[in-house]
Amino acid sequence: MGLWQDSNHPAQMERLIHLTQENQRLLARLDAERRTTASLQAALEHQRREALTDPLTGLYNRRAMDQRLGEIWAVPDAAPLAVLVLDIDIFKRINDTYGHAEGDCVIRWVAATLCRCVRAGDRAFRFGGEEFMVLLPDTTLDGAIKVAESIRRRIEVHHLAFPRNWQVPLTVSLGVASRQDKDDPVSLFERADRALYQAKHRGRNQVVHENCLS
Ligand code: GH3
Ligand code: MG
Ligand code: MG
Repeated sequence: MGLWQDSNHPAQMERLIHLTQENQRLLARLDAERRTTASLQAALEHQRREALTDPLTGLYNRRAMDQRLGEIWAVPDAAPLAVLVLDIDIFKRINDTYGHAEGDCVIRWVAATLCRCVRAGDRAFRFGGEEFMVLLPDTTLDGAIKVAESIRRRIEVHHLAFPRNWQVPLTVSLGVASRQDKDDPVSLFERADRALYQAKHRGRNQVVHENCLS
């Protein structure tokens, strides 16, 4: 005979009430635990994002850059991949002329301009003071050179709108490289960085790619 059929028995009735209450208490506890877990997960995700974000520009930071490169190399992929490295020219003079706070505004403006010139799937990082890197998946060297040139040009042309009484030229130099079979993240980055160094050496405000390296 089931519990319900015999529920007129006072002891069984009492037990039934007790079990129902216990069940409700456990369900409430489960619900509270679920809410705690969800809020801990949200906090963890927030912290993870913060750890990978540059607070000045909102771009990904150096840690995110290393992490992303590691992820890319963890999966064998023959698709083209290009990187460009950008450095603001004579940035020290901007700081010296207008002060550090205005220098920060320039860094933010360059970051925003950079993002406007790249596709949604491309990923931009600020990995140093006035140094940026963009990862361009499914992009050949030629394609990346075009993107780099569009960034360089946009900054050269539009900086006059920024900020008040702007006197100092604002230009950037860029180095571009594309993945080769034997590359690891370090060798690819190094070629782009060497190209950037050449761009500086040749007078700044220009794009140099890996095939121009002497
Ligand atoms: P180059 O064309 O060779 O790159 O010259 P540069 O003056 O840009 O290069 P340098 O490395 O001599 O100076 C970079 C300056 O960037 C020096 C440093 O004080 C400044 N800087 C680094 N991080 C920040 C930052 O977060 N905010 C500001 N305002 N300045 C920064
Ligand atoms: Mg620099
Ligand atoms: Mg610089």
